[in-house]
Amino acid sequence: MGAGIGGLALAAALREAGVPCLVFEQSHRLAEVGAGLQLAPNAVRPLHRLGLGPALDTHAVRIEAMEFKRRTGRTVARTELGLACELLFGAPYYSVQRAHLHEALRGLNDPDALRLGHRLVHTEELDDRVRLLFADGTTHEADVVVGADGIHSVVREALIADRRVFSGLGVWRGLVPVARLSLAVREPRVRLWMGPGGHVVCYPVAAGELISFAATHSLVAPLAESWSATADPARLRGGFAGWDEAVEELFHAADHVRQWALHDREPLHRWATGRLTVLGDAAHPMLPFLAQGANQAIEDAMDLAACLARSRPETVPAALRLYQSLRAPRTTAIQRMSRDNAAALHLPEGPAQRERDDALHRSAALRNRAWLYAYETGMARKTRTEPSATVQSAAGSHGTARRGPTGD
Ligand SMILES: Cc1cc2nc3c(=O)[nH]c(=O)nc-3n(C[C@H](O)[C@H](O)[C@H](O)COP(=O)(O)OP(=O)(O)OC[C@H]3O[C@@H](n4cnc5c(N)ncnc54)[C@H](O)[C@@H]3O)c2cc1C
Repeated sequence: MGAGIGGLALAAALREAGVPCLVFEQSHRLAEVGAGLQLAPNAVRPLHRLGLGPALDTHAVRIEAMEFKRRTGRTVARTELGLACELLFGAPYYSVQRAHLHEALRGLNDPDALRLGHRLVHTEELDDRVRLLFADGTTHEADVVVGADGIHSVVREALIADRRVFSGLGVWRGLVPVARLSLAVREPRVRLWMGPGGHVVCYPVAAGELISFAATHSLVAPLAESWSATADPARLRGGFAGWDEAVEELFHAADHVRQWALHDREPLHRWATGRLTVLGDAAHPMLPFLAQGANQAIEDAMDLAACLARSRPETVPAALRLYQSLRAPRTTAIQRMSRDNAAALHLPEGPAQRERDDALHRSAALRNRAWLYAYETGMARKTRTEPSATVQSAAGSHGTARRGPTGD
């Protein structure tokens, strides 16, 4: 249910495994917003296995380094990615426009398996099937239902009655043509500026033609959450006036800005009933401060596809329990760290901020990200345990430093 990044990745992985599936999507036309995404090796490896290597090489940007800066522009920590990332984790670190990733995933799927204009309103679990009820009054019955229907998931309602949690933060996002920017701002780096009460992240997308930015700030009350709420660029500029000149240059070149409030949910303790489960934001919506929401949706999709591919109709409930046991500990930890990073990124000047900057500096080596980037999914899990384990132990000795944020 849902043709977002998670739903399309699952459908592609199931197709690859020879498991038939249909994807129901509420929109009548698939159109992703023009924001950017960071894709880390933990998601890039499975995307490569699905055949997305050429599309990523064409549309995405291989990131050479990630830099953490103070609002003034002083660099606190730099993590080398580039070739080091490929050697250590078997895949590049990419930045990509959401629309390009979405389109590439769509291309892996059978167009006949995609049912647009179907808004789910209710699920009903029968003995050996699940019935779906759509807003237009039509129904469909399936052996297994997977809710990949995002943070407002209707499928999740069959598992828990919970609410979204407002973070107290909003984000302005936009895309700027590189032709409007000086050379330094165009480099293939993820740059993150930290300041009291807010932070800014930017990186190139669209084969280096555009710079995607996200500027997070305090927000007293939640706005109506939407991907398409437009905002006045003057407010963005005013909110970050006096920051590093690269930030000011970027924001002055932005014509169109979108703004929305950031929410997550508490971790889910039961991911499945007998024949129904969830993945991606429907399972673990997280704040974007580890830049892992879509990456985790892709990991979920690969693990779930592997569990379902090995199951028979009568063993589906066991397959879904296995899926939860594989995924819940990791995504719960990442949800919590993403929340913790919000406070860490926005510290006022003082001892805690200096301690954070020292920790970021000490932990900047790429191997400290092995806990996140070396995770293997699905069918590939067994074949890569050795390099992953080696890297993991190297990172383990660095304690909490390994948790450094990557942001948005
Ligand atoms: C500011 C910001 C920056 C981010 N940056 C990153 C990043 O750098 N890296 C990263 O990995 N993640 C990032 N994320 C998170 C990432 O965007 C999400 O985690 C990811 O898109 C979740 O994918 P999904 O497929 O689970 O859900 P969604 O993308 O929300 O897709 C859900 C789909 O289900 C459909 N749907 C919803 N309800 C129904 C219904 N009732 N019936 C039928 N269809 C329905 C929707 O129309 C949609 O197509 C960021 C998020 C934000 C807000």
